[in-house]
Amino acid sequence: MGISCNGICQRYRARKPVSIGRYASGQKRCNSCGVFMNWDGSWCPCCNYRLRQSPCSGKYKEKYLQIKKKKAISFGL
Ligand SMILES: [Zn+2]
Ligand SMILES: [Zn+2]
Repeated sequence: MGISCNGICQRYRARKPVSIGRYASGQKRCNSCGVFMNWDGSWCPCCNYRLRQSPCSGKYKEKYLQIKKKKAISFGL
């Protein structure tokens, strides 16, 4: 639990999905409380910390890897 956590997040706490990822199933993570929640807003109802809605390996990283791949091909590696 975080410093400003007052336990409200426990009411919205989400269980880990079986087949799909947490973010894919619409769950959001509060880094301050350290919990995944089923919550519609962008801010934690508990500590008002900004919720994370996508994994860190997002589209940007995918793009970066594609560019790297293309470069490798042009260099004949
Ligand atoms: Zn909390
Ligand atoms: Zn929180």
